[in-house]
Amino acid sequence: MVILVGAGPGDPELLTIGALKAINAAEVIVYDALVSQEIVELIPEHTEKILAGKRGGGHSTKQEDISNLLVKFGKENRRVVRLKGGDPFVFGRGGEEACCLANENIPFRIIPGLTSGIAGPAYAGIPVTHRAVNANFAFITGHESPDNTQDHNSEDVHPSRIDWEGVARTFPVIVLYMAMRNVESVRKRMVAAGRSPDTPVALIRWATTPRQQTMVTTLGRVTKDIKAVGMKPPAIMIIGKVVDYRNILQWFQDETLVPPES
Ligand code: SAH
Repeated sequence: MVILVGAGPGDPELLTIGALKAINAAEVIVYDALVSQEIVELIPEHTEKILAGKRGGGHSTKQEDISNLLVKFGKENRRVVRLKGGDPFVFGRGGEEACCLANENIPFRIIPGLTSGIAGPAYAGIPVTHRAVNANFAFITGHESPDNTQDHNSEDVHPSRIDWEGVARTFPVIVLYMAMRNVESVRKRMVAAGRSPDTPVALIRWATTPRQQTMVTTLGRVTKDIKAVGMKPPAIMIIGKVVDYRNILQWFQDETLVPPES
């Protein structure tokens, strides 16, 4: 049995009871680089731990290798936990891993986790919805699969499957995962589509951990300000007026990065 477990965004208090039970019962845990050190420390000492990280830039293991490892352990009838940051089915490639297990007839379960796109803003004092602001919000990845950049004519393989103009028009609040690499192109396209450069934006790094850093800026200045304060991944970016609620609702002690006045 292989259990795909969402570890949540970092704070161990945000693990589900199911996740904690699965972690304690596992013989081997394959975890990714986004699982916080506080949660990795909860893994019992006798349990085999394997870091199979996928992080933009640094150390990483090929997705295929990770899936093969899960299949191998599954076939050995070990109690396997695949521990993933946030929720395994939100931009986490959990769907691919589960499909590999299903194809090999290996029994599996899914334990969802709190996704960083909701819990991160909450720990920054930002509700993703507020009656006064929005009746919907979008979850978007700022970093699409490179496989999606080729064929302009195919329906499912599009240069950018994200219609940014449509997004800018439709969603008052946008939560961007993996935002850092493409922030400038997102910014440009949103402004070109009519979003005011004054729209508030927040970036939250290592959300829900003692290392949480938050920066509040605007759509117009976001790229410049990221550089100025040295904000780095992993960060969630949230765009929209709900960001202003941080002024009233900030409750969690984080490091607030203040961009210079221009
Ligand atoms: N499955 C994860 C998302 C994986 S994609 C989830 O549900 O949260 C990787 C991206 O998630 C990172 O680039 C970053 O944008 C975001 N992320 C994950 N954990 C985070 C955290 N603790 N703080 C800020 N961003 C985080």
